[in-house]
Amino acid sequence: MGGLSDGSQQRRFWNRLWSLPLPPKVRHFTWRAGRDMLPTKLNLAKRGVVQDAYCDECRKEVESIQHALWTCPKARDAWECSKLVISDRSSRCQNFQDLMWLFLMEEEVEMDKVVLIVTIAWTLWHNKNEVKLGGERKPGKVIFKWAAQCIEEYEAVNVDGAIFSIQKSARVGVTIRDDRGRLEAAMSMKIHAPLRALEAEAKAFEASIIFTRDVGVQDIILEGDSMIMYRALSELSPPP
Ligand SMILES: [Zn+2]
Repeated sequence: MGGLSDGSQQRRFWNRLWSLPLPPKVRHFTWRAGRDMLPTKLNLAKRGVVQDAYCDECRKEVESIQHALWTCPKARDAWECSKLVISDRSSRCQNFQDLMWLFLMEEEVEMDKVVLIVTIAWTLWHNKNEVKLGGERKPGKVIFKWAAQCIEEYEAVNVDGAIFSIQKSARVGVTIRDDRGRLEAAMSMKIHAPLRALEAEAKAFEASIIFTRDVGVQDIILEGDSMIMYRALSELSPPP
């Protein structure tokens, strides 16, 4: 893929991948898949651990990361159930890193969609390991539902910046909710400065990160409604 040899582009890519709001287990998986460190049969065969590198699901191709997570009929089944519209260019990707590069750097796919894609990939991999240990082979529909549930279970933090322009001040509010939307903690803070909407949103993000750290929550999803903020935080565009 273009740009893979460029150091600054590489850093941007890993930063974007690393800043995806993923549950820790999915994040860890993404990192290992991106580095081609997962014990696929192909990787195990390369290390001489197994003789047969062929995929146990279809027996048609060797089990590379790309095959296990993307091109194997079992993986295709899950992707079809997800109803995600994914570019045809993905079929030309050689490995998981290429795939992520396509989504994050070339096509700049929406963050929610990338999170779902990565989480489905994780559930596919997880189920593969379950089957190896004698567990149940889950159909695509179940794999997709499992991924969606996994994302829902992840804690959500709502961020909101309300502006009181007449008072020359802004109030930022932060609420922390668990995976079922129940309120766990909330705070509100008045800032004595005539902030514009975007600045208030930036302050709200800053306050929410400090607040969640103070209350001991580590895995968070930040929700705000400023696209400019989202793009700046994800390094999709320079800070405004
Ligand atoms: Zn296969």
